[in-house]
Amino acid sequence: MAASSYGNSDRDRVLDATDLVALVGEHVQLRPKGREHVGLCPFHDDRTPSMSVVTHKGSGFYKCFSCGAAGNAIDFMMNYHKMEFIDALRALAERSGIELRQTRGDEGAAGGRRRLLRANAVAASYFRKVLAHPEAGTSARAAIERRGIPAEMQERFGLGAAPDSWDGFIRHLERLRAHHAGARGDDALPELEAFRAAGLVRDGRQGPIDGFRNRVMFPICDEMGQPIAFGARQIDPEDSPKYLNSPESGVFHKGRGLYAIHLAKKSIIDSRTAVICEGYTDVIACHQAGVTNAVATLGTALTRDHARMLKRMAERVVLLFDGDAAGQRAADRAIEVFFAEPIDVRICTLPDGLDPDELLRQEGGRARFDAALEQSEDALRHFVRRFRQDFAAAGGLSARQQRIEAVLARLVELGFRQMPGLRRTLVMSSLAAITGLPERELEAALEAVRAPGGRAVGASAPEPRHDGPEADHSSLDHPSPDHPSLDHPSLDHPSLEAQGFSAAQARARRQAERDVLAVLLAHPGVAGERIRLYDGSALPATELLTPEAFLDPDCRSVLAAIHVWLEDGHPFTIDDALAELRSASGKAAAADLVIVGARRAASENDARAVLREAVDAFERIRRARTPVAVPIGHLNPPIARSSDEPAALQARLDAIRSRGRDPTAFGRLPGKHNNSSAPRPHLDGS
Ligand SMILES: [Zn+2]
Repeated sequence: MAASSYGNSDRDRVLDATDLVALVGEHVQLRPKGREHVGLCPFHDDRTPSMSVVTHKGSGFYKCFSCGAAGNAIDFMMNYHKMEFIDALRALAERSGIELRQTRGDEGAAGGRRRLLRANAVAASYFRKVLAHPEAGTSARAAIERRGIPAEMQERFGLGAAPDSWDGFIRHLERLRAHHAGARGDDALPELEAFRAAGLVRDGRQGPIDGFRNRVMFPICDEMGQPIAFGARQIDPEDSPKYLNSPESGVFHKGRGLYAIHLAKKSIIDSRTAVICEGYTDVIACHQAGVTNAVATLGTALTRDHARMLKRMAERVVLLFDGDAAGQRAADRAIEVFFAEPIDVRICTLPDGLDPDELLRQEGGRARFDAALEQSEDALRHFVRRFRQDFAAAGGLSARQQRIEAVLARLVELGFRQMPGLRRTLVMSSLAAITGLPERELEAALEAVRAPGGRAVGASAPEPRHDGPEADHSSLDHPSPDHPSLDHPSLDHPSLEAQGFSAAQARARRQAERDVLAVLLAHPGVAGERIRLYDGSALPATELLTPEAFLDPDCRSVLAAIHVWLEDGHPFTIDDALAELRSASGKAAAADLVIVGARRAASENDARAVLREAVDAFERIRRARTPVAVPIGHLNPPIARSSDEPAALQARLDAIRSRGRDPTAFGRLPGKHNNSSAPRPHLDGS
């Protein structure tokens, strides 16, 4: 046998028994294309379907043509679920009902993770037993019955109970340990430390005590249905808090987890829609009523991590809210997510302040629920509508000015500057329609918005991000303040101002020029990409981007150095470009830009999208070049009459939409549409 204690036989048997299309299809929305299946790659921030699953000729593999991820079913599981080989093999074997011939102990880096999963599994089984226990489960059963959750749902969701005692689980573990003494591998009970890390056991004054006492237990599972944490609801109203969640651990991150994702995943993929509730019992009520694509966040608003996971499965996310106050706050967060990820986010407020559980329980509740879902509002439209109300309510000129400034500041805070070009245009045109201000002036005012810290935010300034785990990601997109060399020292060069541009216009203009050059330097192969113009025609990027069109002297000299190569499609490296450049500042600019470009786009596929956006912004700024900045205080914005405003807004949106498909916009693959009667999102790009 090989050094590995796994012979090929187990692996081959598992691979033979695994239908790769079905497996990948459980994680990613796939559609057939020729003899292959294609879908959004889960291993990079994919916006066009770059991943193919190839299964003909007896073998099966997946391959991403953008990031290069490739492999078989075991690789998929290892990479997707961040598992070790042995865990991936076990999970697939279990899935196909195959018994592995060779097993090994708990060694290795995955051990910690596996012990946490095992600890949660042991607890889930214990809590279920307590719930079924004639005495210990009495009060929990009564509490569950008061919520009207039938036995079938209790079982499907694995509900359980923590007993009204400080050591019920501790004593259970002691009994198990005695029973399993000498057991190895999967049968072995993890050390107490694993239970402590999972929050199932805590330290009391006289030794370990139960982590949960006298509560109804809702297991929170990963996509494969393994319990990774628990939501625990009070039984005694004297106990606080009402809900208690397991602490974050090596297997549980509340900003990423979704309650019931394992039960809802298939339905989310099939309907291309995820319904997000606020509470666990709401999810159960939805599933009970047949709304099986319902999940809940775990005490957080929708995060970008959620959106990133869901966008692989669905085209749209509907957030259900029962009331207005909490709903507005969550809707604000949803806007932020919507700005950042190419997925439709819709806001659904249920009638009469009812939560899904209450509504679905009513006579005719399902019909009212479905109607509310159909009337759900695009997050962008929601944002715009709230602004319209606010703006119309503002009395005088200065009050309106304040409203405009506030909404622009809010947009900046929400990450508006990072938003893909077409969405940006949609927002700006909506605001322009409401305020009666030209978009150009709103854009200029947006450039002048100050960051929360009081620092003026140019288009180049790094934005504060709100979701910590994404810190890495954002540093790829934006120059980090820790690396001043990547910042833009020449942005305040006086020459543009000397030509009559305002400081904000000059900054935006230089930023646009640098963005375009950055991607061209890092990925010269995409220079021939055709860019669609506002009049509907399309031109190769190289024809739009002539050195004369660049106003910043460094940018102009960099483009002059590489333009002939770009036009001819002649391959070149940054060294070639540096050799061609004469001035030190030109060389420095090129060196900075190539790094920025490589960070912004990891692959040529990404680079194409980035280039399209950069040229789009460049063109927009170039067209709006009239170097007159009108401070908002000097404007006298007439409010569009509410009767004709929707039509005007619609006309603008139609005009924007007619520009064609933009893969960075929220319109997605053509593909099959679900057959539900729900209307397509109103503002989508199709
Ligand atoms: Zn990929």
